[in-house]
This record gives sequence, C-alpha cells and structure tokens, in this order.
Amino acid sequence: MAANELERETTDVLRELVRFNTVNPPGNERAAIEFLARYLNDAGLETELLADDEDRPNLVADLAAAGAGDKGPTLCYLGHVDTVLADPSEWTHDPWSGDVVDGFLWGRGALDMKSQVAAEAVAAATLARGGWRPQSGCLKLVFVADEETGGDVGAQWLTKAHPDRTRCDMLLNEGAGDRFEFGGTRRYGVCCAEKGIFRFKLTARGVAGHASLPRTGENALLKLAPALQRIADAEPTFELTEAPAALLQGLGADPSNPAEALKQIAATDPRLLTLIEPMLGVTLTPTMAHASDKINVIPSRAYLKIDCRVPPGLGEDAARRRIESVLGEETGRLEIEFTEMVTGNASPINSPLMDAINRWVTTNDPDSETVPVILPGFSDSRWFREEFPDCVAYGFFPQRHMTLLETAPLVHSANERIDVRDLGFAAACYTDLARDLLG
Ligand SMILES: [Zn+2]
Repeated sequence: MAANELERETTDVLRELVRFNTVNPPGNERAAIEFLARYLNDAGLETELLADDEDRPNLVADLAAAGAGDKGPTLCYLGHVDTVLADPSEWTHDPWSGDVVDGFLWGRGALDMKSQVAAEAVAAATLARGGWRPQSGCLKLVFVADEETGGDVGAQWLTKAHPDRTRCDMLLNEGAGDRFEFGGTRRYGVCCAEKGIFRFKLTARGVAGHASLPRTGENALLKLAPALQRIADAEPTFELTEAPAALLQGLGADPSNPAEALKQIAATDPRLLTLIEPMLGVTLTPTMAHASDKINVIPSRAYLKIDCRVPPGLGEDAARRRIESVLGEETGRLEIEFTEMVTGNASPINSPLMDAINRWVTTNDPDSETVPVILPGFSDSRWFREEFPDCVAYGFFPQRHMTLLETAPLVHSANERIDVRDLGFAAACYTDLARDLLG
C-alpha cells in the first residue's frame, strides 16, 4: 500500500478512536475496543475480547503463520485506548472531535496513545488484507483498557490472567520514537526501560492550639518548611543504568561523569536537560500537602505527598538513600511512609528487535540514528517484562515531522494533536518491522 494510503487510513481510524470518550476514570473502553475488534476481524485477524470488568474489555488479535506446531517468534504490538481527562474550555478544537485542521489531527489521545494504536491496527490490517502471513511465528496485537490509572483491569490483569494469550518474545509499546536533533544529527529514542514508583508520605507531628495565639501548641505545618526547601534546593544525584549510559554515550558525552555530561548537553541544547536529567537518578517531586482541617486550629499533624521515581531495577533502598541525602538532619524529625512501591524494569538495549528498528530508521530517514532512552514515567511494558522475563519490550512510535520538544508538552495537556504525516510514517514502520522480523 502506498504511503499516502497508509496515512489516510490511519487518520480515519484515529479519528474514530478519538471520538470514543475513554477518559479514565471511568474509562468506558468497550465501544472503542469493539470498533478495533471489528476492524481487525474484517481484515482477517483472529480476535478475542478478554475482560475482568465487562465495560472495560481488552482485545487480543492474532495473525499467525500457517501450520500447527509452529515455533516461530511472536511479535506483539501493544497499545492502550484509555486517556486522561480534558477540559474543552482550554482547547482550540473539541478534544473528542478528531478534527483535522492544517495537517494536524486534534484530540485527547492523538499522541497518548490512540495514534499508535491506529498505526499498529492499520499496519496489521493492511498486511492481512494483502495476503501476508508470517513465514513462522505470529504477529499479535494487544489493545488494552486502563493504563492511565495503573492497569488493574488492563495489561496488569490481562498478562496475569491470560499469559497464554499474551505471551510474546518482542513487544512494541509507547514511550519514545519522536525525533530530536542534537549536535546537528536527527535522533530517534527507543525506550528500553521504565522507572519505578516509590511514592511516600512525609509527616510532621506537633501540638494543636488556637490560631489566634501562634505561640501556643506546636505547628506541625511549619516543621515541613525546611524539608520542602531542601527538596527545592537539591542537586541531582546519579544512579546510572544501562540505557541512559548508552544514551549519554550516543550524544557524545561521558557516562562515567554524569554531572559533566549534563553540562555538555545543556550547552548544546538546554531544553533537552529537563527530559534527560530524570533518566539518570532518583527524583523527588512534592505534589500534595495537608495540615489542619480548620483555619483557626494550629495543626498537630501535617504531611506532604511526594512522587518519587527510581531508576529501573533499583528499589526502596535507592529511594531511601536519596531521601536521606536530600533531607539531611530533617530525616529524623519526620515520619516516612511509602504508599506505593513498584520497581521499574528494563529490556537489554541490544537485541534483534533493536537491530530491526535501526535498519528501518536508517533506511527511512537516512543520516539519522537511534538512541536508547528510559521513560521517567510508567507504561504497560512493565507488566509484560514482569510476566514474560524473556520478552524484549521497547517503546517506539516513530514521528519524523513533529519533534520531541513539540510533542512532550502536549501529552496529558490541552491541544494535544499529531501531524497526520507521522501517522503514515508510523504505520509504514509497523508494516515493515513485521515483514522484517517474521518473514
Ligand atoms: Zn500512554
């Protein structure tokens, strides 16, 4: 199929997907998932809906090699159809219109990640309608509900409840792929790992009193002030894992000296610093605070909630080390209670899947190169790596026309939109990778 036909069809499918309101919570993904099942079924894929919550099913679709007992590899394209919320009053175009204006398709999910779902579906449908089947192995599509709030009825549940329907050797999901320029070279990130989440509550104790007499009692809220100031002033520390080390190297910096490497990157393009620095260590971001329930009562207890992200493979120890080094002498005066702990995981940066991505990128955008990155956030790749330890899972949705610096501020934000030329670019990539890896 010609590139412009892939672009047109992917644009049509994405427009349909954007028009299903799948804001999570509550999600209500059934209609969008059924639409995708019909579309793939019509093209010749075998489809199955699997649900823990009947209103929120997940879809598994297979295009397998002919012949029983085939032992070839399974390549899986993964995507979630739920989105975060959107406030239409902040948008130039309605977030559920799917309008195409000046070459951009607008809507919640246009980047995260109905666009990738559409490109994956169109790639598989195009291959299937053209009569292509894997020489050996299977092309599998998994479209899930419930990613934005953690996957309880989505990928987490699906991989655990139905490992035989979701097992795969290679997986492509969200996380990277938008082009960025550095030192005059175009680069495409391939996301090899996700950071872990170690959220905690930081509590100060005091003694209640009447607010009209500030020296009565002991104000717990004021005891949090030094801790907040220390977090605001903290310099980064580094716990370098495989992918970010390779990224620094790929950008011509020395991974054995991360502080110096960051300086060098900042000198070339300071905007990249905010995206790269969090990949290199533990981060602490205070996001919520609570003290007295009444304005005229001095609080006897006050707490902060802190969103702490830890490099893949590292656990509570790494989080505690960073907390103690930032809070210093305040550590002993405050209570630390972890409320969510999820260890991040990683895939090796060298693999046949990485080789295939490299081949595709250098063929389709000559003089560009790929670099491994890690996601400071979270994605469903984590559940697949945990359930299937041999599975190599990467985030890769190639975008050539919109750059990382253009897309990053639009994700989860107002006026989310995608250049429709990138829809054709990505759909071509998924079509070609399936042929390359499965024959
Ligand atoms: Zn997403």
